[in-house]
Amino acid sequence: MLYGVFADVHANLEALAAVLDFFTASRVEGHICCGDVVGYGPDPDECVARVRALKKLVIVCGNHDLAAIGRIDIDWFNHYARTAALWTRGALSNESRAYLERLTARCDRKDFTVVHGTPRRPADEYLLSVALFKNNMSRVGAWPLFCGHSHIPTSFHCTAGGKVELIFPEDRQIVTGEIAPYGIVPVAYNPGSVGQPRDHDKRAACALWNSEARTFRVHRLAYDVAVTQGKIRQVGLPEHLALRLACGQ
Ligand code: ZN
Repeated sequence: MLYGVFADVHANLEALAAVLDFFTASRVEGHICCGDVVGYGPDPDECVARVRALKKLVIVCGNHDLAAIGRIDIDWFNHYARTAALWTRGALSNESRAYLERLTARCDRKDFTVVHGTPRRPADEYLLSVALFKNNMSRVGAWPLFCGHSHIPTSFHCTAGGKVELIFPEDRQIVTGEIAPYGIVPVAYNPGSVGQPRDHDKRAACALWNSEARTFRVHRLAYDVAVTQGKIRQVGLPEHLALRLACGQ
């Protein structure tokens, strides 16, 4: 089965539209969303509506989704994230808020697991080191594990010798699971961020996971960043949130 995998949309409708068009053109049969549909960006309600409408969707909540519905303390958020979270609360419709309230912190399927951060701390831990991967292994039921939160496409593999490797796709285009079998051996994937990439590539990130061929491929899609920046300024969100989109940070 071919899945479209995505995370960290962050209320960026132009980036989300590019990703969903790509999924449609790729004829995906299911969708996996690793959380943070809202926060930072200017179109939270529209993005929730587009995500809600997806067929065969497995989705978890992220820390910014929780912030938008008042479920976590935002005192520890940085200034920009806090400002955006408070603005987002007022921009969500009752339907979108109710949808976010129904999301859970993890989803366990028979052939994969989904969280936003890590299984140990779904709302705030970044899976960005082999040590953290190992510390979380016992908390995963079915592999692979799909996660988001760092906004950086990454891949963890167990080699034949039992060693765990962390891979950042060098060409920022493609990661493949073919170099190590998975399903029974632990593998974790992060598709990067749709709406606020932080790997110095401004294009929207997403991935295709083929559960039979055992491949996970990261794709980067150009979208009109200037349109999103204009909306950020129009609604009065911090200028920094517009500028960072142009440099992928
Ligand atoms: Zn995020």
